[in-house]
Amino acid sequence: SLSIGIVGLPNVGKSTLFTALTKKTGLAANYPFATIDPNVGIVDVPDSRLQKLADIVNPGRIVPATVEFVDIAGLVKGANEGEGLGNQFLANIRETDAICEVVRYFKDPNVMREVGRTGEFVDPAGDADTIMTELILADMGTLEKQLPKLEKEAKRDKELMPKFEVAKRLLAWLNEGKRAASMEMTDEERAAAKGLFLLTMKPILYVANVDEDMLNEDLAPIDGVKPLPICAKIEAELSELDPEDAADYLESLGLEQPGLDVLAQAAYKLLGLQSFFTAGEMEVKAWTVRRGATAPQAAGVIHTDFERGFIKAEVIGYDDYIELGGEQGAKAAGKLRIEGKEYVMADGDVVHFRFNV
Ligand code: GDP
Repeated sequence: SLSIGIVGLPNVGKSTLFTALTKKTGLAANYPFATIDPNVGIVDVPDSRLQKLADIVNPGRIVPATVEFVDIAGLVKGANEGEGLGNQFLANIRETDAICEVVRYFKDPNVMREVGRTGEFVDPAGDADTIMTELILADMGTLEKQLPKLEKEAKRDKELMPKFEVAKRLLAWLNEGKRAASMEMTDEERAAAKGLFLLTMKPILYVANVDEDMLNEDLAPIDGVKPLPICAKIEAELSELDPEDAADYLESLGLEQPGLDVLAQAAYKLLGLQSFFTAGEMEVKAWTVRRGATAPQAAGVIHTDFERGFIKAEVIGYDDYIELGGEQGAKAAGKLRIEGKEYVMADGDVVHFRFNV
């Protein structure tokens, strides 16, 4: 499944956030929760549509979609030179599909920022820059290593020329201190660039770990994107409470939902994912596909046999399903559509697949 690596400088609150993410899921688990290894947490993606579907179907259980977070230990200056555990950090990031970077906004004299820097001052933009520089330097190293081989291959096989050309262009771009993802590329170039395994091609979500009283502040963008404000300390406390106490605590803070819920939703979006639903007596379940997935691909998420033997999909749009009180109502109103192999799934589709085994 798709995963998001949590990165950041030391003492910014990564472990606090990660622990809260995994604990919360452990408590709320109404689906088989799995911890693959201690650094991986599978987290529910809260979706209010599930409850609305359940109100109609009365299923035995509700199964939300999930995303995977990976706790990647502190990235330090000089990681690209393989100092200390630097290489390992970068290798771990390489295996994830997106990056969630925790940036320190909270001030605390008792929590040092990094060696030699006291904690009552913060420099979020500078910290984000430090990490971006490490990632860019690592990518430059990756490209420099690959270029001679790419050139040789391109000379032998013309079809590999675009990959060599885009690699050269990317190296020059990175050399200006810019991340790979921000370079304009044709679709063909983008596809070729995927095979270069660059860290700065991955989508990044910035999480601002703020003090409690900063939760509603308007934060300046980092790298052109507004960071997501979260108070890791509060999330950690919330994750220890039972649901009722947690709800009271949230209300007392003036928050509508836990920051972790917002984070899981943002991460899901960042990965380019969307859900479709199956709704039956046994369960109402959210399934995950990439945006743009076709009906057979969606069927394949449920079972590979469903994709191979795909015949048709019976589809009801989410809004129709809710408005018309479920499958029977939708059918009576002519809102149950029979879709074929080419159908591109819409977010929230409620589906039955017909297939041959
Ligand atoms: P990591 O090195 O990035 O994994 O950081 P940790 O999660 O281990 O946190 C480092 C220290 O900062 C710990 O003592 C935490 O309790 C503290 N900390 C984490 N988040 C917050 C926060 O939002 N506010 C304050 N005041 N302290 C925090």
